Amino acid sequence: MANDMIKCDKCGCEHSIINECQVCKKVRIANKDKELEELWDKLGDICINEEEEIEEDFYVNEYLTFEKGTDRIDIWYWFDDEHSIGLCKGLMGL
Ligand SMILES: [Zn+2]
Repeated sequence: MANDMIKCDKCGCEHSIINECQVCKKVRIANKDKELEELWDKLGDICINEEEEIEEDFYVNEYLTFEKGTDRIDIWYWFDDEHSIGLCKGLMGL
């Protein structure tokens, strides 16, 4: 058979051996978007100075912290890249 199927060990569905399980992939992306939405709320609590820079460190995770003085726009770009449907649609609801 050309398209070998394997059983996903996480959700139990069958999917082609060459693709990531689509069910798990959707869950993974949805979870990540939810985390981003929570972070986005947290970013809203951080003061921004007149130069559009954050006034305190913005902790994302153990690998990433935006330091005090980071341009707000740079952080927006990061959210835009990370969110599955982008900053405007996903987080700003535009
Ligand atoms: Zn799965």
